[in-house]
Amino acid sequence: MTTAKRIDGKAKAEQLAESITEQTASLLSQHGITPGLAVVIIGEDPASQVYVRNKKRRAESCGFYSVQHTLPVDVSQRDVLKLIDDLNLDDAVHGILVQLPLPDHLDEQTITQSIAPTKDVDGFHFINIGKLTAGHTADAFVPCTPAGCMLMIEDELGPDLSGKNAVIIGRSNIVGKPMASLLMQRHATITVAHSRTRDLPQVVRNADIVVAAVGRPNMVKADWVKPGAVIIDVGINRIEQKIDGETKSRLTGDVDYDDVCTVAGAVTPVPGGVGPMTITMLMFNTLRSARLSAGLEG
Ligand code: NAD
Repeated sequence: MTTAKRIDGKAKAEQLAESITEQTASLLSQHGITPGLAVVIIGEDPASQVYVRNKKRRAESCGFYSVQHTLPVDVSQRDVLKLIDDLNLDDAVHGILVQLPLPDHLDEQTITQSIAPTKDVDGFHFINIGKLTAGHTADAFVPCTPAGCMLMIEDELGPDLSGKNAVIIGRSNIVGKPMASLLMQRHATITVAHSRTRDLPQVVRNADIVVAAVGRPNMVKADWVKPGAVIIDVGINRIEQKIDGETKSRLTGDVDYDDVCTVAGAVTPVPGGVGPMTITMLMFNTLRSARLSAGLEG
């Protein structure tokens, strides 16, 4: 029985973070600039708090100026927009991130679109989405998760994906759609599957590259997978499992890892695959923003 290569996103993210830290030090010594990342978190969602803490920790370890604004769950939209305005004008801040999801009374689109496109390190602003879709990525910010997936795919298959079939499962604005744009730019042939797709296993069987971004634990099985395919598992699902009579919760992806490893060529694990790369790409985008703000190449 074959066993697929485990794509170590954690190790790759560490390597990338080292390079970002070095570039940050030289940006400071040569140009007197320290990349600045501002994270806005609203309310007390425990998962969001963990994500924000990890982002702050990583920003500090890269040598960034890092600031966190924690707003109460009932904050008004006006106050959020005022804070973003202030951050847009703050020269020490090169990247602004508003942690999602937001409480129901706030309008996500108005808030994400109020971030200056030049500081939109999440890549959610329509200007950045437009640039990515049009292939003008020289000064655009690409959303962190698909950008990280792309680096891992490139490691396995090289930069030119001509002749490869890629199936993306999930059509969200933050993962599926930008992933399709990135893969298309590398000349892959793209299928974006979603909840209305008929016979998903058959669609996936055609893929040399699978990116699963659904939010359904262990959905992708070995008999969906073409032998040798590269499988990128974006999903993060918390499941309860009984171990020795005790119920414990653990994270799992959208891909049945052990099963798929018997057929695929390479697979990202969850945890330790896409997640760490996503955070590091946020640092990459923030460093890039700082460099672009100084008129340097991104
Ligand atoms: P989303 O809920 O916005 O989109 C889910 C997509 O899956 C939708 O397009 C939907 O059409 C599709 N879908 C739902 N059920 C389906 C089915 N049965 N068959 C085929 N397609 C189906 O989700 P999202 O924000 O793109 O996130 C997807 C997953 O990735 C979630 O588990 C999320 O937690 C995870 N995620 C991880 C990272 C990371 O850094 N690792 C980043 C973003 C999202």
